[in-house]
Amino acid sequence: MNIRDLARKNILKLTPYQSARKLGYTGNIWLNANEYPTSPNKYKYKYTNINRYPDFQPKELINNYAIYSGVNPNQILVSRGSDESIELLMKVFCNPSKDLIMFFPPTYGMYKTSAEILGINYRIIPAKKNWQPNLLAIKSQLHNVKLIYICNPNNPTGNLIHISNIKKILKIIENKALLISDEAYIDFCLNASLVRLISIYPNLVILRTLSKAFSLAGLRCGFTLANPEIIKLLEKVITPYPIPTPVIDIAAQALDPKKIKYTRSRIIKIHKNRIFLIKGLKQCSCVHTIFPSITNYILVKFYSKYQVFKILLDHGIVVRDQSYQPGLINCLRITIGSYNECQRILAVLKKIKPISLFI
Ligand SMILES: *Cc1c(COP(=O)(O)O)cnc(C)c1O
Repeated sequence: MNIRDLARKNILKLTPYQSARKLGYTGNIWLNANEYPTSPNKYKYKYTNINRYPDFQPKELINNYAIYSGVNPNQILVSRGSDESIELLMKVFCNPSKDLIMFFPPTYGMYKTSAEILGINYRIIPAKKNWQPNLLAIKSQLHNVKLIYICNPNNPTGNLIHISNIKKILKIIENKALLISDEAYIDFCLNASLVRLISIYPNLVILRTLSKAFSLAGLRCGFTLANPEIIKLLEKVITPYPIPTPVIDIAAQALDPKKIKYTRSRIIKIHKNRIFLIKGLKQCSCVHTIFPSITNYILVKFYSKYQVFKILLDHGIVVRDQSYQPGLINCLRITIGSYNECQRILAVLKKIKPISLFI
C-alpha cells in the first residue's frame, strides 16, 4: 500500500515551517528564535488535580491577562501558543479553496504555512520599501479575502506598522474581512498596541504570546484578543482541553499583577542590550545596514550573509537567515541575547573583513 496515495495532495506538496529548532544547528549561543536568553525559574508547580482535565478556558489565567492587556475577560481566548490561534481563525472564517487570506512579506512565515496545511489560498501583497502595507494594492485585491494578517511589530524587520495605516486598512475592509494584528513582540513597546481599538472595530483581532518578553517559549501559551462574538466562534473549534494544567498554573503566576514587574525589568534589560549591540555593529566592517528595531531582535544586512552566517556558526553562534524573503538579500536576524552573548557575537563580527572575499 502506498501511504502517500492516501495523504492530501497539499500536504505532500507542503514545505513545513522551518522552525529554529528544526533546522538542527549545533551551537552554544542561540540568537535565532527571538527567545529570552535566560529562564525565569521562579514559578512553582503545585502538582494537584493532574488526574482531572483542566478548565477549558481557565478563569484565573484569563483574568490575569485581562488585567495585563486592559480588555475584558470575555474578549480573550487562551491557546497553545499564538501559532495555534493563527490556524483557529482560518478554521472559523475560511472555506478551503474558496476564501483567501492576505499577508505582506517580508513577514512571519506561519500565516502561509497554516493556510497551506488547511488548503486555504492566499494572496501576497509585498510591503512597500519602508515596510508599511501597500494600501492601494490591498484595496484592489480584496475579493474573497476573509483574513488579513499583519505582524506588528513586524518579524523579521523590527518596525511598527503606523496606526494610521492600520485604521485605513480597517476602513477598507469594513464588513468584508478581519484584520489580525500579530503582536508577538508588542510587550517591548506596549504603548503601540492596538488593544484599545478592539472595542471600536468589531473586525480587529490581536494575537499575543508569553513566548517572547515573558521568557516562556517552552510553556506554549498564547492569547487572542477580540470582540466576544469572535472569541465564541474560536471556542467552537479549539480542542476540548487546549491548555495543560502545569501551563495554566505557571502562566497564571507569570501574569500575577504583583509579578509583572519581573517581565518589565527583563524588557528593560533587552532594550539596553539592543542599544549596546547596535553600537558595536556600527563598528563592524562586514555590516552593510542595521535596521531600526523596537523589539528583541534586529535585522542586519551584511556584505555577504554566507560568509557571516558560516563564521558565526563556526563559533557556535546561531542566527536566523532571512535572505530568502523579498527585499532581504544578505539579511540575517539577530536575537538580542544576554549582555555576554552580545559581547561574544560582536567579538566575532568585528574580526570579519568582507573585503578579503572580493580580492
Ligand atoms: C514567535 C512568534 C509567534 C509564535 O508565538 P507562539 O506563541 O510561541 O506560538 C507568532 N507570531 C510571531 C510574529 C512570532 O515571531
